[in-house]
Amino acid sequence: MLNAFIVMLVLGAILGLILAVASKIFEVQVDEREATVTAMLPGYNCGSCGYPGCSGLASALVNKETDTLNCKPCKAEQRSKIVEYLNSTPGPDGEVLKVKSI
Ligand code: SF4
Repeated sequence: MLNAFIVMLVLGAILGLILAVASKIFEVQVDEREATVTAMLPGYNCGSCGYPGCSGLASALVNKETDTLNCKPCKAEQRSKIVEYLNSTPGPDGEVLKVKSI
């Protein structure tokens, strides 16, 4: 009985260690700018920017797939706030984007 308990204890410790190492190796860094920009966009999800919804454009901007904020329903004031935010807020890698608005 004591042997079974010790085996389970050691097995649990080993598996816990493996899970801890795996969580560090496969960690996905989340860029908080994407959620912030998504919240700043109008949220119409009309697709006229060429992306599948506002989160698609936010993701493209943050992931450098585009450098242009081309959200037509967005008011000029809001567009400038988004551009200013992206051009002044560093991402997880410390890099700041250069985004423009049309
Ligand atoms: S054009 Fe603007 S409102 Fe329409 S999906 Fe793109 S970001 Fe959203």
